[in-house]
Parts: sequence; structure tokens; C-alpha cells
Amino acid sequence: MIISTITEAIGSTPLYRFDNQHYSMPKGSAIYAKLEYLNPGGSIKDRLGSYLIKEGFAQGKINEKTTIIEPTAGNTGIGITLAALTYKLRTVFVVPEKFSLEKQQLMKALGAKIIHSPSEQGIIGAISKSKKLAEEISNSYLPLQFENKDNPAAYYHTLGPEIFHEIKENIHSFVAGIGSGGTFAGTSTFLKEKYPDIRIIGVEPEGSVLNGGDPAPHEIEGIGVEFIPPFLSPLSINQIETISDVEGFNYTRQLAREQGLLVGSSSGAAFAAALREIRRLPPGHRVVTIFPDAADRYLSKNIYL
Ligand code: PMP
Repeated sequence: MIISTITEAIGSTPLYRFDNQHYSMPKGSAIYAKLEYLNPGGSIKDRLGSYLIKEGFAQGKINEKTTIIEPTAGNTGIGITLAALTYKLRTVFVVPEKFSLEKQQLMKALGAKIIHSPSEQGIIGAISKSKKLAEEISNSYLPLQFENKDNPAAYYHTLGPEIFHEIKENIHSFVAGIGSGGTFAGTSTFLKEKYPDIRIIGVEPEGSVLNGGDPAPHEIEGIGVEFIPPFLSPLSINQIETISDVEGFNYTRQLAREQGLLVGSSSGAAFAAALREIRRLPPGHRVVTIFPDAADRYLSKNIYL
């Protein structure tokens, strides 16, 4: 494959097939994990960045002098900047201080400007700071992934079809982590159109509010919400699996040691939930999940120690 812009390398990621030779599960069953950490910016959000910039131009929200502003834990910032730099667009990201330093360095390496918001205000604080900045900076575009329908649309048009075409056989369940909810909503909607009986299972860390309860800090990064994302309301979600930090990190380490999959903790959590699902289904079933990002952006948090 010969390319001349980095965004051409986005997508067509491998699907890793786990069966009962890897982990105990009913005979003939399999979990397929889409290795989104192998995208060029190291995460699932490369798809979103590229889609937002393309749609922004198409919808007249972006021109060649626009500054893109967005609240992000980091992966969305990396994905947006990868796409923006091919047009030489300026990018400014509001990142809650506590989030991974590696992701902040990667955004800077790509030419983005980082502004911090207080950790204790979480992503809600980053959103309100971004809105203020967007009022101050002229010709700016604030895609706002938490509300923008282009977010689920990016996955409806890319990730869903890839999974459908690659697996070819009936998919019984789709299991994915929920942060903004874009990946989960867009991919679930596409797969449900193809397989109306598919079960759709969301994944959150303990300390997220989807199964009830108050928001609380957690170490699993990239998933978990302080408010219910608007993209979830049209979906008939079969179940939300809540995964503890201990369980999520155990699987994250096992996936590296036993399979050579160097993924972040939201992948470990997704895998824990996918295993719960495949084990409660009869033999011969197929569950698809997503491994959203790479481990190397969490090394300063000692995820393997
Ligand atoms: N995993 C990681 C590592 C992420 O950064 C994100 C995005 N915050 C997700 C999962 C969840 O993706 P989405 O925002 O589409 O729900």
C-alpha cells in the first residue's frame, strides 16, 4: 500500500479472533476484536477526526483559515490533528489535567495547542472551557463530539461496514465501551440494520453512571460517563456491563503477555465484557468487540507494572 497522506492509512484494521483455545468459552464460539489501536494515530478516533474535518468542509463549517477547538481526553485530539494537518488547519484542545501525558505529547508533536481544564471538573469543565474559547477565537469550529451527530455517523459509515464485510456470518452480540458513545451508537446502529436480533452491550468502568450510581474516579481511561450521552437514547441497549479497574487492567496485561496485543485499558474492559457475554450465550455464537487504543500512551501510568 503506497500512500501520500497519513489519513489514507486509517481503517481496514485487523479483526483478532479469540476462541476456546485462547480463553474458556462455549465450543464453536468466538470473540472478534477489531484492532483499532493499529490506526496511524493509535486509536479509533482517527476515524472520527478524518470524518469531522471532511464533513466540516462539506457543510461549510471549515475553511482553510479555521481553527478547530475541541474538549478531549487526547485520542480525539490526535485524530483531529492528523486530519487537520493535511489542510494546515490550527487545532486547540482543552484537556482535563489528569489525562495521560503521552496523549498530550502526541497532540503537541502533531502541532496542536493544549489548554488545561481542572481535573476535578472532568470533561464537563473541558466542554465549557472549549465553548468559551470558541466565542473568543474568530473563524473557529467546535465539533463537540459529545453532541455532534457526525460522531456516530463516522462509525456508522466506516467501522460498522468493515465489521459486516469482514465477518460475513451472523453476529450475535456487539460489545463496546462508551465514552462519547459515538463508536457504540454508530456501529450498533449499522449492525442492527444488518442483524436485527443482534444484542448490543455497552461497557463502562465502575464510577460511570450508566448502570445508576454517582460518578466517581476510575483508572480505566477513555470510557465512562458523568452524564448519559445523547446518542444512546434511540438505541435499545440489551445490557450495560460495569467493569472494575482491577478486572480491566488484569485483562489489559493478559492481552499483552499472552497474545502480544499492546492495548489500553478500555480494551481490557471491553474484552472482560465480551467474555461475560460469550460465556452466557449457547455454543457456536459470535461476539464482536473493539480494542480502541494502544498501550504506549499509558506507560507513565505504569499499566504493565
Ligand atoms: N476507548 C478509548 C481509549 C477512548 O479514548 C475512547 C474515546 N474517549 C473510547 C474508548 C470510547 O469511544 P467513544 O467516545 O466513541 O464512546
